[in-house]
Amino acid sequence: MTVHPDDAELGAGGTIAKYVAEGKKVGIVDLTRGELGSRGTAETRTEEAEAASKILGVSVRENLGLRDGFFQNEEESQKKIIRAIRKFRPEIIITNALDDRHPDHGRASKLVNDSIFLSGLRRVVTFEDDVEQEAFRPRLQLQLVQDKYIQPDIVLDITPYWNIKEQAVLAYKTQFNATNEEDGPQTYISSPDFMEYTKARAREFGRNIQVPFAEGFTSRKLLGVRDIFDLI
Ligand SMILES: [Zn+2]
Repeated sequence: MTVHPDDAELGAGGTIAKYVAEGKKVGIVDLTRGELGSRGTAETRTEEAEAASKILGVSVRENLGLRDGFFQNEEESQKKIIRAIRKFRPEIIITNALDDRHPDHGRASKLVNDSIFLSGLRRVVTFEDDVEQEAFRPRLQLQLVQDKYIQPDIVLDITPYWNIKEQAVLAYKTQFNATNEEDGPQTYISSPDFMEYTKARAREFGRNIQVPFAEGFTSRKLLGVRDIFDLI
């Protein structure tokens, strides 16, 4: 559950591909259509997100249509998110970085966090197709590490899935490794350097657990494991 189409792929594409491969049901909820992006349009972004979803093999992808750049953490936005949480009833939600270069990321993280809490309250009433939804709260919420380096609380080996992640990111073809001038001006993310940087981040997280590629996540609460021998 992330604010811009492409946040999920960049931050957790390997994790998504891994759990899809292991038979889990994985869905992506984008809060906005990324309509303020400098290259491409909301329409091209939607097509790119569909292509990336196919590459990752997710079961569902929904867009909540909040306003890119201007959404607020208020009741209407929260209710849209609560409706999605209660509809899909995910065990785990991964959302944006707690704080980042793009201010939408930290704001979305807080908005999703507040909405997850409210979603568990039965007196917060929402409807899906005129049927009142049941209160529901996922058991775990994690945040991405995005542009700004944040020390992750856990890192996950995504080595067998790095290629799928890379393909899913490159499905946003007006955004990454993109040179077509008709799609807009060159930006910080459109040069090949950005993909190299994304790879370097996965390499660095991997290095810390002695695997080639990993993705890192933070948690707002203390994380427990059932067996310390599962840790690497
Ligand atoms: Zn973003």
